[in-house]
Amino acid sequence: MNYMEQEQKNQEENKKSDRRNFLKLGLLAGVGTIAGAGIAKALSDDKPAESGTKIKVLTADGKLAEVDSAHIKHESCGKELTNEEVRKGIEGKKFVMLIDLARCANARKCIEGCQKMHNKKAPTEWIKTKMMQESKDSAPYWMPQPCFHCDNPPCTKVCPVDATFKRKDGIVLIDNERCIGCRFCMAACPYNARAFNWTKPEISKELALENYNPEKGSPAKIGTVEKCDFCPHMVREGKLPDCVTSCPNGVIFFGDYYEDVVTNGEDTFRLKELLQKRGGYRYLEELGTEPSVYYLPPVNRAFPFEEDKVAHNTEDYTWK
Ligand code: SF4
Repeated sequence: MNYMEQEQKNQEENKKSDRRNFLKLGLLAGVGTIAGAGIAKALSDDKPAESGTKIKVLTADGKLAEVDSAHIKHESCGKELTNEEVRKGIEGKKFVMLIDLARCANARKCIEGCQKMHNKKAPTEWIKTKMMQESKDSAPYWMPQPCFHCDNPPCTKVCPVDATFKRKDGIVLIDNERCIGCRFCMAACPYNARAFNWTKPEISKELALENYNPEKGSPAKIGTVEKCDFCPHMVREGKLPDCVTSCPNGVIFFGDYYEDVVTNGEDTFRLKELLQKRGGYRYLEELGTEPSVYYLPPVNRAFPFEEDKVAHNTEDYTWK
């Protein structure tokens, strides 16, 4: 590697590390931003000593402000959650995801980041990238697809043991200790977002000793159903889901519908304004499932479509 290449690599690494650090520190990272009534609630009451690390937050009038990270209080850090807390979700939030299809080059880093975070291996993919093409004359494009955390989810309604449920914060979760593996929920999901654990999951000794927590979805259990969970254990700590931070192109945004804010860790937008300006939509909205995941159409693409990025397990949803 020559000097220029090394220099460029260093700069990219620094940029990534800045972003990771930034994400670890602030509410902007995980819960979107502090806006409206959120700012008072999110700032710690007991005024601890300043840490010297500043975090960017969004104020009620839509301006970015800086506060000390010690003055931010997170919902729950390291606390063992009760079953009731897990089922209720994070107070006063409604989490949403926004995926900018114009930025996706099928780098598949969201899939890899998700697999690493959840101790999964290929072919299990909680988020998939599909090749889409509306007609033979239109350009194909890539579409990342996680669970849509529907507001009217058919999957939870068919569960005979109440193992899968919709929380007040919008997240649809599975309690694998209750799941009996009947797979009714898999049949009910019109988006094929769920997967079945056919084999004994390979997990480290340390992980096997951890208490099971539906928010973390681990340790995984053979003979049960699993899926994308919006990483609620990370969101509670003020971090973004791993698919968001793993994407090198900033394709995936996460945020709070009530605060009307989404961020990919670098860019932050008002959700409704962005949806209106860019013609945002939800996938197969006519099904009445009310997905919590929004898409921006693949117009003015950042990357050309490359056929050689078609991976063996990428689903093909073309016009043919
Ligand atoms: Fe349920 Fe499928 Fe909607 Fe996810 S995408 S909430 S699994 S119906």
